[in-house]
Amino acid sequence: DIFLQMNWMPSEFESRGCFDNPQQRACAEANTKSYRPSADVLQQLVDKFDEHGVNLHIDAGESYSNIPNYAERHGGEYGEFKRYYFQGVMPGLKLMDNIDELLGNRSAVFRSGMIGDSMGPGNYSVGLSLVGDNAFYVANHERMTTDEQLRNTIMHELGHTLGLDHNGSTKFANEVPKSDYLPNYYSVMNYLYQFSHFDYSDEEAVSGGPLPQECNRPGVNCYTGDYRVPADWDNLIINTGHIGRPVGAAGVDGKAVDAKALQAVEARAKQFAAAEAQNGTAEVALDAKKLQAGKKGEVTLRVKNPGADLDRYDIQVVTPNGAFHDAVVLGGAFGQADNEVTVKVPVVPGNAAVMPVDVKVTNGKGATAFEDRFAVDVETNAKAAPSDAMAGATNTGAAQAPRPEKQRETSQTLTTKVEQPAKPAAQDKQEPAEQKPAADSQGNAKAESPNIAAIVIPIIAILAIIGGIAGVVGSGMLG
Ligand SMILES: [Zn+2]
Repeated sequence: DIFLQMNWMPSEFESRGCFDNPQQRACAEANTKSYRPSADVLQQLVDKFDEHGVNLHIDAGESYSNIPNYAERHGGEYGEFKRYYFQGVMPGLKLMDNIDELLGNRSAVFRSGMIGDSMGPGNYSVGLSLVGDNAFYVANHERMTTDEQLRNTIMHELGHTLGLDHNGSTKFANEVPKSDYLPNYYSVMNYLYQFSHFDYSDEEAVSGGPLPQECNRPGVNCYTGDYRVPADWDNLIINTGHIGRPVGAAGVDGKAVDAKALQAVEARAKQFAAAEAQNGTAEVALDAKKLQAGKKGEVTLRVKNPGADLDRYDIQVVTPNGAFHDAVVLGGAFGQADNEVTVKVPVVPGNAAVMPVDVKVTNGKGATAFEDRFAVDVETNAKAAPSDAMAGATNTGAAQAPRPEKQRETSQTLTTKVEQPAKPAAQDKQEPAEQKPAADSQGNAKAESPNIAAIVIPIIAILAIIGGIAGVVGSGMLG
């Protein structure tokens, strides 16, 4: 049985107080990225360990836990956003601090996994771990674009805490050549296969045969001598200097399970899962009152984020007589911030009895979150059938509970120019090299075309002597 507590930093946007004060200059470019691993990613990890007879118990706060009969959650969002997680601190010591700060007495049972942004300026390594101790960090930065990359990196860094290095179990450190690139060692621990092989090795790896094409990647130096690497799964080191030590009760005190608390936690987890499935979408309701042909009027859009995480939305409205554009950031369904906003769109209807209003909302990834046409009644000059109120349909028809809405004063008026939505982010799951050039910390687009394959691979590993100071086993910074 392995116990893992997952925490992650809040988004930059949230951490800078942009929900309360969105006019801050920093907010325009503040990152709305959520560092939370999806329930699906965590479940895939649990399933993978289960395939090999290991129970992986994960506490990821209200968003995920597979620990039965245990309502106490310590995983989840934690601390403040940091652009560079390890800036100004000794990385190994910071992870040691995390064991105390995030786990406390739990460290006799749990490992700590923290997810955040880059480790340091210009550092695109994806993780850092205490080998054979309880803590790791995953740098889910702008060049980590897929759930698979995040999932594999969690497994890689967790593997370090289970005594695995890039050349297999540290039990055999004196027998296996010291290389990050043993061609036939098929494991997520191997830099050659970190993003393509979601598993530890389950059989002995033996040298021989032609070199795989992975060896041709820039910066890769495949080992060509002889080696034998015993199977990872047979050689995990579960106990560490922390795990298994006696500290008294760690959360379970022998009292009967609090069934009510458990029910509440589980009900909330269900709601969270439902919201998570809505990530990246938007709900839009439209209201229009007493529009008259040829006269200035307005329609009101209520835009809601039904997802679990905050998101940045681009709202485009097109009518026969003009276009309107606005951008908002909305909180997630479970956050502190509002997850809906009311946007007033000035319109001038023509002389048709019905005015089509096309609404398109794109999310922070540039994908379509909502797209629909509303038909709004117009009182024409013929005054055929004046009516008091007309409303367009909503996309879902779901009743939207009225709640206090943030009124947006918008200075935007009718313009004829509609900005093109951003292109969807690269969809390729395996080759981050196809990404668009990423922005640096100043938000400036990088001029060079980065070879991501050469950048994402490097990972620093810290070999921590149990309870002691570590020897750094860093790979070179290939990027
Ligand atoms: Zn590593």
